[in-house]
Amino acid sequence: MKVYLDNAATTPMANEVIDAMAEMMKNHFGNPSSTHAFGRDAKGVVEVARRTIAKIIGAEPKELIFTSGGTEADNMAITCAVNDLGVERIISSPTEHHAVGYCIEGEKDFEVAYVDLTETGQVDYNHLAELLKSDKKTLVSLMHANNEIGTLLDYKKVSELCRANGALFHSDTVQTMGHYKIDVTDFGADFLTCSAHKFHGPKGIGFLFVNKNLRLKPFILGGGQERGLRAGTENMSGIVGLAKAFELANEDVEGHQKHVQELKSYMMDELKARIPDVSFHGEVDPDKSLYTVLNVCFPEFDNKSMLLFLLDLEGIAVSGGSACNSGASTGSHVLRGINANTDRPNARFSFSRYTTKEEIDYSLDKIEEIVVGKLVKG
Ligand code: PLP
Repeated sequence: MKVYLDNAATTPMANEVIDAMAEMMKNHFGNPSSTHAFGRDAKGVVEVARRTIAKIIGAEPKELIFTSGGTEADNMAITCAVNDLGVERIISSPTEHHAVGYCIEGEKDFEVAYVDLTETGQVDYNHLAELLKSDKKTLVSLMHANNEIGTLLDYKKVSELCRANGALFHSDTVQTMGHYKIDVTDFGADFLTCSAHKFHGPKGIGFLFVNKNLRLKPFILGGGQERGLRAGTENMSGIVGLAKAFELANEDVEGHQKHVQELKSYMMDELKARIPDVSFHGEVDPDKSLYTVLNVCFPEFDNKSMLLFLLDLEGIAVSGGSACNSGASTGSHVLRGINANTDRPNARFSFSRYTTKEEIDYSLDKIEEIVVGKLVKG
């Protein structure tokens, strides 16, 4: 059996998305910047997609800028906030995705302050309130859900604190767009980021939501695409795929959440019953944890460093953290950021609406075979 439980890294594309993209590629090849009929047709395709997405998140179409994905959208939000909006100080956390973390690290023209986190990766909101007491123009950049441990941000609290202190708010919503009903007014952020391949869309396409009251300058120079902010001929098939995937994901968000949360809770219960001393990184309360991610901390066992490889041999694809880190020898910055016990083997299991109970049962049996019986005593 082949079981894909690495959906936080990427998801398989939905057939309906592939069909929509193929139709677009066959029938709408014009350049959206051309003024002739072929160009106008292509422009129409892009703008229909933009309006479709904007409607779902309660934004105005002009507030969406298509990007090459979550990384570019995060980079654009932070870079433009500093270059164009006078931000002198950024408050963030040590467990952000590297698309944010690396963007704010090092010698820069702005100050960086890191908010304290609890051992489950929750933001210490009192500390955030303290940090916000500053005269300097500040951007708060905190992700909605952590991609490795799933801990959810109380975005309402953060947006209220930001508003009360005149700070801008950026949230990396790459793991939650398409998985929760997100409305930009309710969220209260100035910038939100999205990546299609996290909800059964294509790779290499996403968007940045920018509140319409903010005046940004071009992030990529060239033609006047994306209201002059992000030049380059539009990735039309990607844009169509993104819109289709977003529509499908949002058609029944609650239904998908219920299905996946049941599988996650079942897996947690079975692991606790079958594996001595097992625990979980991040929040265990379903209201505070992304329902698609389960980060398991296993007891010590012989061959513990081979865990992911042994699962792979059984056809089970999981990861040790974020996919972007799998080649790095430094371990997970997220687990370090919450002072987790990194001597113990861990694995991130991440689910999608297509994950089945049979797949979970098969994985549980194989995990038990690999871990139990080879436990290190003492
Ligand atoms: N932010 C988070 C939280 C992610 O999980 C990812 C992808 O792993 C990204 C940003 C980067 O998105 P993309 O792969 O579209 O560049």
